[in-house]
Amino acid sequence: MVDEQLARRGITDARVLEAMRKVPRHLFVEEALRERAYGDHPLPIGEEQTISQPYIVGLMSSLLEVRGEHKVLEVGTGSGYQTAVLAELARRVCSIERLPRLGQRARALIERLGYQNVWVRLGNGTLGWPDEAPFDRILVAAGGPGVPAPLFEQLAESGRMVLPLGDEEAQVLTVVTKVRGQMVVSRHGDCRFVKLVGKFAWET
Ligand code: SAH
Repeated sequence: MVDEQLARRGITDARVLEAMRKVPRHLFVEEALRERAYGDHPLPIGEEQTISQPYIVGLMSSLLEVRGEHKVLEVGTGSGYQTAVLAELARRVCSIERLPRLGQRARALIERLGYQNVWVRLGNGTLGWPDEAPFDRILVAAGGPGVPAPLFEQLAESGRMVLPLGDEEAQVLTVVTKVRGQMVVSRHGDCRFVKLVGKFAWET
């Protein structure tokens, strides 16, 4: 998976490649889908949600430029796979999932895998996690119409956020940085995510 789908397509960040070699992706999908866990596609994880394609996880993780001392906020825990990859890269990961069943399952698995630098909370992630702010890095794993204001507020100065922005059908992978309090935006190609739901995103 790492050689063929990531390295060959231009993902060169050695820490990201190493993290994705290490995290056992097959444990993040249900048993009937395990044989397909390392395939070049997203897979269903229940509740009409998906675990992202490996390449997208690699690309978002590289664009985020996470360092070992960083505190990261993730919105949309889903299966917890991206969360575990971030846990390999960062000092601390705070992840928020709105669907209780997914959040609880991801939390249990991450605990079972022995990660001690991850906190998973249930709720609307577009509100961020004020008690833990500011965050050096923020990753949003669902597609919304714009940058949720609370997330930009909770981004540290010189911090970096990666999120898919667009309509409900298609989005552009977007990097937002905070430079002297101002938003600087760059775009990094088309993608397709499930909907970011709630206040500061799609209402339903
Ligand atoms: N990276 C995850 C992707 C999960 S799909 C993985 O690979 O498994 C995106 C997740 O975002 C879904 O689980 C969905 O329920 C969640 N989500 C959507 N809107 C949200 C919100 N406002 N707050 C928190 N989670 C949200």
